[in-house]
Amino acid sequence: MITLGIETSCDDTSIAIFDDNKGMLYNKRHSQLELHNRYGGVFPELASRDHQVHLLPLFDDAMKQCFLKPHLIDVIAYTAGPGLVGSLFVGASFAHGLGLALSKPIVPVHHHLAHIEIARFQSPEISYPYLALLVSGGHTFLILVKSIHDCEIIGATVDDAVGEALDKSARIMSLPYPGGPEIESLAKTINETDLTLPRPMLKDPGLNMSFSGLKTAVINTFVKHLHTPAEISYALQKSIADVLVIKTRRALVSTGAKQLVFCGGVAANMYLGSTLRGMCEKKNVSCFIPEISYCTDNGAMVAFTGSELYRSGIFQKERFVEPGWSLNDL
Ligand code: AMP
Ligand code: MG
Repeated sequence: MITLGIETSCDDTSIAIFDDNKGMLYNKRHSQLELHNRYGGVFPELASRDHQVHLLPLFDDAMKQCFLKPHLIDVIAYTAGPGLVGSLFVGASFAHGLGLALSKPIVPVHHHLAHIEIARFQSPEISYPYLALLVSGGHTFLILVKSIHDCEIIGATVDDAVGEALDKSARIMSLPYPGGPEIESLAKTINETDLTLPRPMLKDPGLNMSFSGLKTAVINTFVKHLHTPAEISYALQKSIADVLVIKTRRALVSTGAKQLVFCGGVAANMYLGSTLRGMCEKKNVSCFIPEISYCTDNGAMVAFTGSELYRSGIFQKERFVEPGWSLNDL
């Protein structure tokens, strides 16, 4: 069965072709980073227009590279939400138009579910229920994944997402956008610092987190000129790692889960990944982190999850786009 995956939820246009016999045949992405760079964040109207420019050429390229004709596609999967409404509309309209023209089934996919489930494509030994830590530019969630149709958000940030805190901190220090990779490489240039930044909400017994105070602490530290951006980056990464590790450990204990999936754009961070892996090893829990091309927004995760949903026979055909779709309402 051949599944086309279409991802346009934010500022990446991506197309993938998944063949459940031969594997992931194609997964390409056009990033709009340069387009939005001058605005210091994503400009929604420009994002939708750019998806429209790049989606069809990417689809044509996929057909050529995979020696496919559109009628050979069996299932069309696309991201229906959450995301920017205009961006979602571009992918949804393309998917529905193609599906109608070819008389093929159309599967609307939840963006976060796709980020999580792609781990099962790479590591089929992952079984339900498992715990997922989804950390991206817009979201920070601890999720109990009971099945592909049933997820429960058991912890979340009450303010900024981790990626947002990293991006805003980088901007304060005049580092380029996105800030996460910049902060990671700066932090790697030193081995220690006397600077300690706060670890918010650690005393709170629950699973919720907070990262906006960290950003304020970065501003206060930076303006004093007592520490270098490398020291601030090092301390910031350490604070974030501590909060994520402690909250995730607590979630593993309370759910009894024996497998953890760490995913989303921030999961590209090697320090956070190795710290979480270290904690999991001590607790005899298996830790899975998708490879980088599957951590950032990508069509492969949509194609794989769409294919699994289609095979299960249960998917929400009536959905078109749902910008505020919650994982609790799959
Ligand atoms: P997403 O929202 O899933 O597209 O991921 C984008 C977010 O991931 C942005 O906030 C980036 O700053 C962040 N990010 C990307 N690479 C890294 C990295 N190596 N370390 C930390 N954060 C990262
Ligand atoms: Mg994403």
